[in-house]
Amino acid sequence: TRDLTVDAASTEHAETIVQAVKALPDIKLLSVYDRTFNLHRGGKISIASRIPLRSVSDLAMAYTPGVGRICTAIAQDPNEVYNLTIKQNTVAIVTDGSAVLGLGNLGPAAALPVMEGKAMLFKEFAGLDAFPICLATQDTDEIVQTVKNLAPVFGGVNLEDIAAPRCFEIEQRLRQELDIPVFHDDQHGTAIVTLAALFNALKLVHKSIGEIHIAINGAGAAGVAIARLLKKAGAEKIWMCDSKGILSTNRTDLTQEKQEFAVKAQGTLAGAMQGADVFIGVSAPGVLTPEMVQAMAKDPIVFAMANPIPEIQPEVVDKNVAVIATGRSDYPNQINNVLAFPGVFRGALDCRAQAITTTMYLEAASAIASLVKPSDLDREHIIPSVFDERVVSAVAAAVQRAAREEGIARS
Ligand code: NAP
Ligand code: MG
Repeated sequence: TRDLTVDAASTEHAETIVQAVKALPDIKLLSVYDRTFNLHRGGKISIASRIPLRSVSDLAMAYTPGVGRICTAIAQDPNEVYNLTIKQNTVAIVTDGSAVLGLGNLGPAAALPVMEGKAMLFKEFAGLDAFPICLATQDTDEIVQTVKNLAPVFGGVNLEDIAAPRCFEIEQRLRQELDIPVFHDDQHGTAIVTLAALFNALKLVHKSIGEIHIAINGAGAAGVAIARLLKKAGAEKIWMCDSKGILSTNRTDLTQEKQEFAVKAQGTLAGAMQGADVFIGVSAPGVLTPEMVQAMAKDPIVFAMANPIPEIQPEVVDKNVAVIATGRSDYPNQINNVLAFPGVFRGALDCRAQAITTTMYLEAASAIASLVKPSDLDREHIIPSVFDERVVSAVAAAVQRAAREEGIARS
């Protein structure tokens, strides 16, 4: 018998190869494995001790009786938990499994591989110990109460893949009730990186954020957070659409978050795109047509971020589009949250920030944008690579600076 490893471009391609091998005379295929499945067997992360446990004396210090003195010290001065435990470097990745990647409401068990992957990213990019917590409830009150009850262990909470509009209330309530940073990456990670990309794209077309007309398609977790942050950054004219068209004051079906962006205009995305300087898509595959792009203002900027299939394929976008970005790694200008969340948490935990704030988002976005030197800035390079080693420390420093300015750093 022989192992044969084949690089397949897709699962369909792999299936074709398997069928072709099976059809060969004199060959019997005994078993087939999928490298991605193999990589996941047993899970992707584990807990490791940071100190050796080799002798009776080691044991007596790390565990009882020695540890008892540490417990007493923390009971006497609760701040000592930051010095004497894992809290200062540990993040809870909390999901209810209701919006797993773009796959939908798969529940907590099916969400676990994604949360393990997120934990790997926290570790690899920022040296943080993040732990997946997949909750067997999708009830807002229960989620809030459970996270509050878990909070003593963690230096910060990253909410992940929780469906809109529930995610907005859960985040807001946890922010109010906890004295550690709470961050919903699908909202704010996306918003930070989108703003960073927009800052640099606007430099290329010599337009300022206050004067541009922005059309945002998608008013879910990502769309709402992006719109809120763009406003804070000075954007004044934002038209947002959901699956039913422009968020118009005439509509009676808008959630509280959507009402924040309701405008007098009404109609469809095609209407919102008339004369727009910027399109930001966090909605669904293929919903932006070349005709809609042609109706945009001079030097249009198109961020088509629906994953894995963007609102418009970069190949069909007109040459006169000044900048196109997507969420994908196989096109230039990948708007990837990994540029933001590791540094945001690194910075917040390092200064024991009590919260993560909008000022931190703005500073983080500027820090990411400024890593692209003016001489390197061009239409295919508006954002640093996710493997650019300067990113995490630049974002962390910006977040710490903001925390100190706002008086919410505790060390
Ligand atoms: P979400 O909370 O489910 O929101 C999706 C929004 O898109 C909803 O407002 C929905 O409208 C709207 N929508 C759906 N189909 C539409 C259509 N045909 N036309 C206009 N709007 C439509 O999801 P999310 O977390 O915000 O993510 C949205 C998309 O952005 C996903 O594809 C996700 O992968 C992508 N994304 C990319 C990045 C990145 O590249 N860095 C980051 C975050 C998200 P209704 O409200 O009417 O249902
Ligand atoms: Mg996510």
